[in-house]
Amino acid sequence: MSDQQQMKVIKGLKIDPIVFTQKFVKGCDICLCSGECCYYGVYAESTEFEMLMAMKDRIIRSMDDSQTTDAEQWFEEPTEDSDFASGIAVGTEVYNGKCVFLDKQGFCTLQKIAMEDGENKWKYKPLYCILFPLVISDGVLSVDDEHLGRMHFCNRAENQTSTVFDVCKEEIKHVLGEDGFAELEDYRKEYFEQLSESESPSVILEKDK
Ligand code: SF4
Ligand code: SF4
Repeated sequence: MSDQQQMKVIKGLKIDPIVFTQKFVKGCDICLCSGECCYYGVYAESTEFEMLMAMKDRIIRSMDDSQTTDAEQWFEEPTEDSDFASGIAVGTEVYNGKCVFLDKQGFCTLQKIAMEDGENKWKYKPLYCILFPLVISDGVLSVDDEHLGRMHFCNRAENQTSTVFDVCKEEIKHVLGEDGFAELEDYRKEYFEQLSESESPSVILEKDK
């Protein structure tokens, strides 16, 4: 992560410029990756946990035989975590080698039921699932390089033909809103301009060789 003191702040979040430069796949394709970012479970906000438990019968209806329909097995014990508004995070359990909500085809059941019911596709999904490969940690919007480092498809250099910023515009807007995103675009321009100015002496030296 870059120096936090220098970071631009948008909507109360510090922006790590790595979001502009980190390479990423052009788009997620679960036929190629099998949804492996969901193999480890996720930390949900306590309010997200309560919402999901309150709709457990609906979730169970869309689960397949690779998932457990015993809702008591869906979540870990709550833990304190200052990255969550309530200060409490609740991890989803891993069952059959994948998040309890991942079906055998690699689809998230929570996203699937939102779409089946004509709702916004992210209505029931924990924020950190929506964000990945982005992450919010200690008030900084950055790239989750630790989790990304485990991926066999989207972390391979030969597959990374785009950047996190270009691929995750919808996710960024989800967090910052349209106005925050516009501010981020301005900051991105500014960031690359500054970068090219600071690099220009070496470019000149290169040309002089
Ligand atoms: S983030 Fe990576 S592992 Fe997850 S769905 Fe996208 S391409 Fe697949
Ligand atoms: S809740 Fe859905 S998106 Fe999040 S880790 Fe589980 S299966 Fe993946």
